[in-house]
Amino acid sequence: MTQFRNLIGGEWVTGVTTVDNINPSDTNEIIGQASHASAQQVADAIAAARHAFPKWSVSNTQLRSDILSNIANELFARKDELGELLAREEGKTRAEAIGEVGRAANIFRFFASEVVRIRGEKMASVRPGIDVEISRDAVGVITIITPWNFPFAIPAWKIAPALAFGNTVVFKPAELTPGSAWALADIISRAGTPPGVFNLVNGVGAEIGDALLDGVDAVTFTGSVRTGRQIVDKAMGRMIRVQAEMGGKNPLVVVDDADLDVAVGCAVDGAFFQAGQRCTASSRLIVTEGIHDRFVNAVKERLGKLVIDNALKAGTQIGPVVDKRQLDQDMRYMDIGIKEGAQTPIKGELLKRATPGYYLSPTLFTETTNQMQINREEIFGPVASVIRVRDYEEAISVANDTPFGLSAGICTTSQKYARHFRMHAEAGLTMLNLATAGLDYHVPFGGRKASSYGVREQGTYAIEFYTIVKTSYLSV
Ligand code: NAD
Repeated sequence: MTQFRNLIGGEWVTGVTTVDNINPSDTNEIIGQASHASAQQVADAIAAARHAFPKWSVSNTQLRSDILSNIANELFARKDELGELLAREEGKTRAEAIGEVGRAANIFRFFASEVVRIRGEKMASVRPGIDVEISRDAVGVITIITPWNFPFAIPAWKIAPALAFGNTVVFKPAELTPGSAWALADIISRAGTPPGVFNLVNGVGAEIGDALLDGVDAVTFTGSVRTGRQIVDKAMGRMIRVQAEMGGKNPLVVVDDADLDVAVGCAVDGAFFQAGQRCTASSRLIVTEGIHDRFVNAVKERLGKLVIDNALKAGTQIGPVVDKRQLDQDMRYMDIGIKEGAQTPIKGELLKRATPGYYLSPTLFTETTNQMQINREEIFGPVASVIRVRDYEEAISVANDTPFGLSAGICTTSQKYARHFRMHAEAGLTMLNLATAGLDYHVPFGGRKASSYGVREQGTYAIEFYTIVKTSYLSV
């Protein structure tokens, strides 16, 4: 049985407890065992990262670029095999999983180039005989905490810029996806990173959460709002840099003049693919009166044809949900919606397949209001609501009436609505005739309101979090 151990100071270290890693497409299969670190081992990892920092932070950029390229190359070369591991432990389809590993590879390749582009500025002083230089330093030891739904891509978009800009890392992956984290850590450890520059610790967030923040300089987190709030609070108490990307309740507005096929495609992909387990999932479908019935009928028809099965089986379009706890949460919200008076032209059911797994068919709620609990809280499953509105003006107001602000989409053929929506949607991402989920790797990513705290991730904007500006005065 493969042991997914911890990487501390360049050594693979056994933790204090082991937890089975179960395949959600076949709950009889144990993929491996995660070895959970103790709080003391987390402290050891932070100490190792602290020890490695002074040398790494001033290491030459070509070395760092080469290491990041090595990581990218191995990810590209092994994307099929690693994609299979990801699909087995998380439940997304093989094609989606292979795509995600490729995306992680592209992110490392992108930052392998960014590292040689670090710039500074030189300015005239307002005083005679003095020069002013503005440069960027590495921040220090950075704790990286990630969720299970993108176990290669999200760690990649945090680890790559952290290492590129000279920081050392303690990485704490989600409990449900230790295999992907272990595979990624193994690649990073063999790519030329000196011992201690990159460390991996497994464990239950609530148990080792405090230890992960003790003695570090920054923490970057992606996960639920509840955990994100706690981490932001604790980081502020310690006065360390913090960035948190959290949940969503993303609207997809469909206006009367939309191309129906495009709108249905966006809704079905955005709301239900990857079993709705994406922070950018379109969970609120806000549809104007004139197209409402045609849209609902077409979505219903499309949903009826989706193939839900083992993530590794050819032809599967949607795999299982990730675990029993998530399945229970989805079922609970299905009951809540029905109690709140929503209609269910398509009601989710537990499905039996050749292998025992957490297979849940989609739920489409209709005749819902934006005030219902199912439209206020993130469900994170294959469940979406249709909200009927009079016109575009009501649609945008409903779209913005949410505590969240990650992604917001509109399907329309009108330039007027498209432009207005782009300007007034209160979200970090807006999508025109595209699903609310599905992102490029080289541009900034992040949300507003309860979805996000701190500066943007990814692309050239990542440098803001992973470096600290220094202003130097020189008398010459
Ligand atoms: P989660 O908040 O339960 O866990 C995320 C990570 O935080 C895990 O590694 C977990 O172990 C750790 N953690 C939990 N409690 C902790 C604590 N007290 N201290 C330190 N760490 C702790 O989230 P999840 O269930 O893994 O992921 C699903 C959530 O992630 C959804 O809400 C989804 O919207 C969100 N998400 C957001 C984005 C984004 O970029 N905005 C992307 C993907 C997922």
